[in-house]
Amino acid sequence: MLSVSDAEAIILDLVQPLKTPQDTEFVDLLTAIARILASPVTSQLDFPHWDNSAMDGYAVRYEDVQGCSEEKPAVLEIVEEIPAGVQPKSTIQPGQAARILTGAVMPTGADTVVMQERTRREENRVIILAAPKPQEFVRHRGCYYRAETKLLPAGTLLDAPKIAVLAAVQCTQLRVFRRPRVAILSTGNELVTPDKPLQPGQIVDSNQYALLALVRQSAGEPLMLGIVKDEPEALKKAIADAIAQADVVVSSGGVSVGDYDYVEQIIESLGGKIHIRAVALKPGKPMTVATFDNDARPVLYFGLPGNPVSALVTFWRFVQPAIKKLSGLAKGWQPVFVKALACHELRSDGKRETYIWGQLRLKHGVYEFQSAGGLQNAGNLINLAQTNALAILPIGKTLICQGEEVQVLQVGA
Ligand code: AMP
Ligand code: MG
Repeated sequence: MLSVSDAEAIILDLVQPLKTPQDTEFVDLLTAIARILASPVTSQLDFPHWDNSAMDGYAVRYEDVQGCSEEKPAVLEIVEEIPAGVQPKSTIQPGQAARILTGAVMPTGADTVVMQERTRREENRVIILAAPKPQEFVRHRGCYYRAETKLLPAGTLLDAPKIAVLAAVQCTQLRVFRRPRVAILSTGNELVTPDKPLQPGQIVDSNQYALLALVRQSAGEPLMLGIVKDEPEALKKAIADAIAQADVVVSSGGVSVGDYDYVEQIIESLGGKIHIRAVALKPGKPMTVATFDNDARPVLYFGLPGNPVSALVTFWRFVQPAIKKLSGLAKGWQPVFVKALACHELRSDGKRETYIWGQLRLKHGVYEFQSAGGLQNAGNLINLAQTNALAILPIGKTLICQGEEVQVLQVGA
């Protein structure tokens, strides 16, 4: 059976990131958080836009204050006061200074700022008590960014610091990639939506909700296609419909070896190419990955196991990085693993790569992993609520002792 890392390599290789102009749209900076740049950004503005002061103090000519000290202070006439946001009127002549405040434009003639703490004010004169360095506390125009040079490359995820940068250089319309469309469908005769009274034997379709949330967290645009019965014709119609609309289709259920597990054969009957049928992963062994060549736009199909825990684990491990890579992200789409100390024994039968769900916590600056309480059983959906990470036991490893280091996959946002 395919190993987890081989399956991951196959899947990520199948992903073709969005890149055509049709895959992009313009957004205003106000709504650009978490979007991904589709073109590099350059600004017409230098940053800072003007030579300005980094301190509250006095704008001076360096040659006037060179070598001065408390014993031998320089005395300068104050000719102007320049608050931030005001264009200076004077040119500083020898023996003169301007009172200047942080962020204010440097007056011509002055080349250095003496911080207020190194001066004493006497009416319209300032006594400079310590020599500054040449050009000290002046932020020169364009010293942080030169207009027309590349500011942010395509593929950048716009987070709060980048939004601040874009605002500062007045880039308020941004070309970003559209969000990947991810169709979600649940298969199973036994399934019912959470708002309906349960008839005997029915099971609530929690996967539709869980997958919707996961797709949103992965920056995809979810398309909810509902519950489909385990009937070949109904499945065929639903899957064909999903392929027609989406970049990625995620179904759950019907990929195992049971009598009602039709998903694989329907994929094949619709012309899909199956790349993966099962992975040596626990929970989550039955998982189908296929591609459809749909009018030049390839569609990636994930048939996840129906079991709610298996569906989540396979999504986190394989689907989430695939959606992120597809979305045009240049980097940071890979799953994030950290090393943690096990709070207690972690066990596996050693036959498949085993994922134990639970909590990753920082204790005194060190990561530790505590498995979710109660039974670690793929049917125990309830203890998933205690989960923000999955501890991984590789094939052949049957025990990780308390206090031993374990590899952990961070899940969540
Ligand atoms: P399957 O993979 O279709 O054999 O389903 C395995 C188990 O997961 C069965 O007990 C199903 O009832 C359950 N299951 C399947 N789909 C869902 C779903 N959408 N939400 C919750 N449980 C499900
Ligand atoms: Mg089923």
